[in-house]
Amino acid sequence: MRAVDVIVKKRDGGELSRQEIAFFVEGFARGDIPDYQAAAWAMAVLWRGMTVRETWYLTQAMAGSGEQIDLTGVVPLAVDKHSTGGVGDKTTLVVQPLVAAAGLAMGKMSGRGLGYSGGTLDKMESIPGFRVDLSRDEFLDQLRRVGLVLCGQTADLAPADGKLYALRDVTGTVPSIPLIASSVMCKKIASGAQVIVLDVKAGRGAFMSTVSEAVRLARLMVEMGRRARRRVAALISDMNQPLGHAVGNALEVREAIETLHGRGPEDFRKHCLHVAAHLLLLARRAATLRSAHTLAASLLDSGRAWEKFRLLVEAQGGDVGVVDEPERLPQAAWVETVPSLRSGYLASVDARAVGETVVALGGGRAKKGDPIDHAVGVVVHHKVGDRIERGDPLFTVHAADQQRGAQAIERLLAAHRFSRKRVAPLPLFYRTILR
Ligand code: URA
Repeated sequence: MRAVDVIVKKRDGGELSRQEIAFFVEGFARGDIPDYQAAAWAMAVLWRGMTVRETWYLTQAMAGSGEQIDLTGVVPLAVDKHSTGGVGDKTTLVVQPLVAAAGLAMGKMSGRGLGYSGGTLDKMESIPGFRVDLSRDEFLDQLRRVGLVLCGQTADLAPADGKLYALRDVTGTVPSIPLIASSVMCKKIASGAQVIVLDVKAGRGAFMSTVSEAVRLARLMVEMGRRARRRVAALISDMNQPLGHAVGNALEVREAIETLHGRGPEDFRKHCLHVAAHLLLLARRAATLRSAHTLAASLLDSGRAWEKFRLLVEAQGGDVGVVDEPERLPQAAWVETVPSLRSGYLASVDARAVGETVVALGGGRAKKGDPIDHAVGVVVHHKVGDRIERGDPLFTVHAADQQRGAQAIERLLAAHRFSRKRVAPLPLFYRTILR
């Protein structure tokens, strides 16, 4: 078989066989197929698409390109959640300890932020001492002992995907539904979870800008999970405005801690309870979604989820004193609350613009490996639909200095749109995809 023939077949709209896909993925992972051929192939896939069967072969080939962790003998039931990425999305920090409090083990491998979308590892590293680079043995040992782990991906997990994703990132081939679905699901499958809830974001601050695109991606990912014999549900959630109020690493940890104490913004609390309820339902800890919601709320309000979060921080070397007193988290030197310049109903808060503002403040990275400032970020004080009077606090900027802060203020004022007429609040979720 020759790589060029596989590329030509896809370029001309053909359906690739299992053997052709395995040949291409294995050859690329070994370094026998060069980047320029893999880039041409990815572009052909982007234009021509893939059938469900091809996507499954690709998912299997990438999952099989490295170590596949079997958790069946480690914990009774391993669960996982995955978000397709957004602005202010600190859901894992609440949902993971919450379901762990119900006895569900979650060994979660997360990522770093890239572009306007934040990353869970960066958020957790706001806590002094917290280690995310665990070895495979440390991962398994902590999962067994503590029931929750939050770390980076091990080097040998789906290495073909790591290599292909890096290439897609610089060749304009990220936004392909079969490539995204296989990339996400090969890692979930290789990391061993038996129950998975996917939080697929739709809107201005998400990969998928429309609900219908998000539904297509969600259906394909759920189907990959079904073929791998995992129990999977996908929730389509809104990402037109930031989730919660805080955007920026330490600020988001603080908001997650508030939420674990039964406070926190209402939209974020509801979002977390809904994701957790679906995990509890799929894992058969509750008979109905309604009873799963009740269980999730009681685990949050009783402080049991908070206790699990503390255990997680402690197990990974983080300073528990800092999460007990979150005012000791990194603090920005320049903090300014900006009042609204007008009265009206909030019509939109552009999530992408807010995310990009936080990157410009130094809280995110434009390219892989850039250093970040954990202290900086933005707190948006209102949600779409709120009535705001001129002079009410609109947002607070946390910046390293006044110059950067002033630039952020300008961008954030432009990111808020008002209407004289009443505006309906945005839904938190649009759809649930079970198959
Ligand atoms: N996240 C992934 O892991 N892969 C993609 O292709 C897109 C987002």
